[in-house]
Amino acid sequence: MEMYDTIIIGAGVTGLATAMYAGRLNLKALVLGATSSNELPIGGVITLTDTVDNYPGFIHLTGEELAKKLEEHAKDYDIPIKEEKAVDVSKNKKMNCFIVKTEESAYYTKTVIFATGAKWRELLMKGADAFKNRGVHYCALCDGALYRDKILAVVGGSDTAAKEALLLAQHGKKVYIIYRGDKIRPEPVNGKLIEKTGKIEVITNTNIIEIKGDKFVKSVLLDGEYKGSKELTLDGVFGAIGHIPLSDLAVKLGVKINDKKEITIDRDSKTNIAGVFAAGDVVDSGFKQAITGVAEGVVAAHSAYTYIKENEAVSVFDD
Ligand SMILES: Cc1cc2nc3c(=O)[nH]c(=O)nc-3n(C[C@H](O)[C@H](O)[C@H](O)COP(=O)(O)OP(=O)(O)OC[C@H]3O[C@@H](n4cnc5c(N)ncnc54)[C@H](O)[C@@H]3O)c2cc1C
Repeated sequence: MEMYDTIIIGAGVTGLATAMYAGRLNLKALVLGATSSNELPIGGVITLTDTVDNYPGFIHLTGEELAKKLEEHAKDYDIPIKEEKAVDVSKNKKMNCFIVKTEESAYYTKTVIFATGAKWRELLMKGADAFKNRGVHYCALCDGALYRDKILAVVGGSDTAAKEALLLAQHGKKVYIIYRGDKIRPEPVNGKLIEKTGKIEVITNTNIIEIKGDKFVKSVLLDGEYKGSKELTLDGVFGAIGHIPLSDLAVKLGVKINDKKEITIDRDSKTNIAGVFAAGDVVDSGFKQAITGVAEGVVAAHSAYTYIKENEAVSVFDD
């Protein structure tokens, strides 16, 4: 029976950096990265942005380039990356290990690191589902080019929403950012770029209550008047209203989460279960970026290493 030191579930930037560090620590590691279910390539959600200007050491690179670099770095330590989705994680006291089942196989491991990220939160107003992929989208990089010279809206107020709007402004003739709060929260540099484009208009304290159209989106209905009307004519709506952490597998194992479904970790990336660690967009850190996920992942790899060393002579399930 092949026994891994650690299995990293998720092959986004967090999982890939974790793998690289596990390799440096000479751990026998395996990365499992689902690609078919969410249609994201290895590298995860960062591959959806064309501008990463805040990853230390690189003044500018695309998300895809950053993902590729991290993948190459992990592979340089001969860490295998399998495009398989983990469907169950359990602990087996008798065998003194965890069993990670995928749709294809089962793997045995001394430790598990969850780097499963999050999926985007879908828009819920009337019409959002009916017009999905016919004017309602969640990825400006993937679908923005379909809207050359069109009028678009981004729903949300975060820096990600701002970046999505900036990307759409490269294609569309006008982009609204529609946000329910008082003030959008772009990084200052992105805030300045929004002003500079002259193409982006921010509508605050407003919700879309309905997306309307025939075959494709034609307009949205607002819950308040904007420039004298509650109906805004446009061709596409891009949701950027946050993410839902993919923590279900961890929860089934008994891992503690908070009220946002984020896995609770300590400063060593440890969860409440011995031998189980977590990092990246799936955990309860307030600031979620590529660099923070990468850092938590590196810490998780080191904690897994320390844990294995400390438990080499004893059962890992003495409790
Ligand atoms: C549009 C956009 C722009 C952004 N721009 C920036 C930026 O400029 N700078 C920056 O630092 N950050 C940026 N971010 C945030 C950054 O992308 C994320 O914080 C970071 O990429 C999260 O990485 P992760 O590996 O934790 O999660 P993810 O990238 O979500 O990766 C998790 C992976 O785990 C896989 N997975 C999930 N469940 C399973 C399972 N059961 N079995 C196997 N695999 C599984 C998923 O398929 C996924 O590939 C941006 C995000 C978005 C959406």
